[in-house]
Amino acid sequence: MAPRTVRNFIGGQAIEDGAVASFFDKIDPVSGSVSARVQEADRRLVDDAVRAARRAVEGAWGATPAGQRCTLLRRVADRIEERFEDFVAAEIADTGKPVTQARELDVARAVLNFRSFADTIASAGQTSFLTDLANGRQALNYAMRKPLGVVAVIVPWNLPLLLLTWKVAPALACGNAVVVKPSEETPSTATLLGEVLTEVGIPDGAYNVVHGFGAGSAGEFLVGHPGIDGVTFTGSTATGSAIMAASAPRVRPISFELGGKNAAIVFDDADIESTLDGLTRSVFANTGQVCLCTERIYVQRGVFEEIVEGLAARARALTLGNPYAEGTTTGPLISTAHRQKVLAYYALAEESGAKTIVGGGVPTLADDLNGGAWIEPTLWTGLTNADRPMREEIFGPVAGLVPFDTEEEAIGLANDTDYGLAASVWTTNLSRGHRVAQRMNVGMAWVNTWYLRDLRSPFGGVGLSGIGREGGTNSLDFYTEQTNVCVQL
Ligand code: NAD
Repeated sequence: MAPRTVRNFIGGQAIEDGAVASFFDKIDPVSGSVSARVQEADRRLVDDAVRAARRAVEGAWGATPAGQRCTLLRRVADRIEERFEDFVAAEIADTGKPVTQARELDVARAVLNFRSFADTIASAGQTSFLTDLANGRQALNYAMRKPLGVVAVIVPWNLPLLLLTWKVAPALACGNAVVVKPSEETPSTATLLGEVLTEVGIPDGAYNVVHGFGAGSAGEFLVGHPGIDGVTFTGSTATGSAIMAASAPRVRPISFELGGKNAAIVFDDADIESTLDGLTRSVFANTGQVCLCTERIYVQRGVFEEIVEGLAARARALTLGNPYAEGTTTGPLISTAHRQKVLAYYALAEESGAKTIVGGGVPTLADDLNGGAWIEPTLWTGLTNADRPMREEIFGPVAGLVPFDTEEEAIGLANDTDYGLAASVWTTNLSRGHRVAQRMNVGMAWVNTWYLRDLRSPFGGVGLSGIGREGGTNSLDFYTEQTNVCVQL
């Protein structure tokens, strides 16, 4: 099949190929073949996108009342549902993820993101204070929320549509216009979303997409553009630092959801079967390419062997293969370049004295998958927190298991990291569950579950894992500025 073309989307329109100076290839991670040619946005196209967004904020979109914006966002959700399989196919074409996951997690959450933030805005109030004055009179203070203006949205490749809509929905709900730079690895669903927004009547320019890479390309041009009023970014910590530096001269608001090196703590009173099910998901979901995935597992000594063997058995039972084949649980990594990075950690772990319990290399699969970015799900024992594979984010289907004796020791081991995104605690003693979860130095701590999300709750990380919280009214705090009006009565 001839590769598709994926286009920039600016001012409500896909850009003609003739208006674009360069294209890049998108490689299908399942087979290694070219699946799409993608228009790369140069400085001029990025500038066009920012100007289109500014016109929308100052024009039709800025003039759309909040209630009407909510109605439109609910229509977006409905329209994604109507075109559900188009989004599923586009997401799979870019990532190779199993069809069940694309349906049940990625695209389903995109629908939910639009509905949830429409609800949040519809029910959001303003704060007000009556101030008593010395002369017996009063003053009324009330805070007005206003959109930031033009927001740059920069997102990664692991959950492309889910993470994109997690930012676009609240940004639009608050009345901002956005310029989105999806990952070069996953351009398709962002452009498809542009079609949907236009179909339901969101004014031109409220949503724009520029494609390309980071440094020296569309990402850098966008965050360096003087017409941007804020940057919301999900991706690696190193890129977050570069974006923070680029945002510093104009002191722009930033919201960062960055990397993690997440721990699970398993106590000896845990329900073993459900813990193993939860750990399997938390280590291997999306081939380990979720920022929340567990890469460090601390297990109380009495159940250490049982957990190691049980998790290894579940890892061996994962089925790698064609995303549409029945029974496929696990897709490839996003690219062979990323596989090189993960395989380097597999080698480093063995050099550091790890025992590889399962996996450790590249699997043998059917011939038509040979060129893909396939990798074996992997578990190690024998490492300590001093070893690099236990300190650095790998972002693959892999975890190291380490025994511990006391609760205090487990808390110390889990918190011994520069990151602070998520943690999970597995125990049937709920008092202990609360106690340990509260002491986790992270943005999100789960007890007897993992990645269970209520979209109204705060989401974000501490340390190298990010700045700020999004979710529910937390998102309003980032995507709006407040003006306090004080009236002497
Ligand atoms: P990445 O940082 O390499 O790229 C993310 C995005 O930033 C891409 O669109 C990329 O083109 C762009 N970019 C790169 N350099 C840039 C620059 N100098 N200026 C502007 N834009 C630039 O991350 P990735 O490899 O795509 O994604 C994986 C990372 O994302 C992991 O570290 C993972 O933990 C993290 N992540 C975090 C969360 C979270 O919610 N905390 C969620 C998902 C992924």
